[in-house]
Amino acid sequence: MNLISKSVVKQVLDKYQVRPLKRLGQNFLVNKKALNDFINACDLRKSDVVLEIGPGLGTITQEIAKKVKTVIAIEKDKKMCEIMKETLSDLNNIEIINQDVLKIFNSQFSISNYKVVGNLPFYITAPVIRKFLETKNQPKEMIFMIQKEVGQRICAKPPKMSLLAVSVQFYAKPKIVSYLPKNSFWPQPKVNSTIIKIIPQKQTIVNAKLFFEVVKAGFAHPRKQLRNNLSKRLKMNKEKTEQWLLRNNIQPNQRAETLKVQDWINLTKTIKMN
Ligand code: SAM
Repeated sequence: MNLISKSVVKQVLDKYQVRPLKRLGQNFLVNKKALNDFINACDLRKSDVVLEIGPGLGTITQEIAKKVKTVIAIEKDKKMCEIMKETLSDLNNIEIINQDVLKIFNSQFSISNYKVVGNLPFYITAPVIRKFLETKNQPKEMIFMIQKEVGQRICAKPPKMSLLAVSVQFYAKPKIVSYLPKNSFWPQPKVNSTIIKIIPQKQTIVNAKLFFEVVKAGFAHPRKQLRNNLSKRLKMNKEKTEQWLLRNNIQPNQRAETLKVQDWINLTKTIKMN
């Protein structure tokens, strides 16, 4: 079923007497080029198992299903799941799960060797990315449509790092694939979007819990100098904090946003020496 047009999306929703729900971030994809760009970015193989977050009416789902082994589509809105039974009825390799994606991690989450994709609802972008990076069962790749500014923040480099950028880049290599104008979606969101690809990397051997304690301390007040943030939050005296930073070739008056992920790893590895 051809779903990639504003009029068809409206017709389907009318038929089921539903309206797009703002609280679930329902901005449906209605632009063919954006859909093609997204499918190309997913670089799909016949053997792929793909987990799609928020399939909505199934617009992306059906294109993916034609190219892969299985699609597991997780949709929170029961009504959308009902609609997909119709829109995806001629494909038999799609499993629709009516659930909140953030809850799949509560039970045993046992898919392996999979890709995660989706036109993400804006309100869960950061927690979704974080959960999939922190799980033992990391995906091979994640390809998402997200807000342009959030995509740029995730891919930032020093001196524009943020807690979000460090958190993602600690686990993975993120890359902006392309930009999508806001009129690619209906209802039209307020901001433009981007296609982002996030590829998990082999983990550096460092205590992740301690790493994030140090990073969060550093970013506690991003406008303040590292010396102050770290000594206050980690309860370390200023002189020791300065020595610790200098030993890692970091100036005590630098700000957290100027540090590379490797600087944070070095700080984590040497914190015990204080
Ligand atoms: N994939 C469709 C498309 O591109 O047209 C819909 C994308 S829309 C931006 C986001 C979808 O995610 C909606 O269908 C919404 O109901 C669903 N959704 C919102 N929160 C969710 C959650 N926590 N878990 C799973 N799906 C969710």
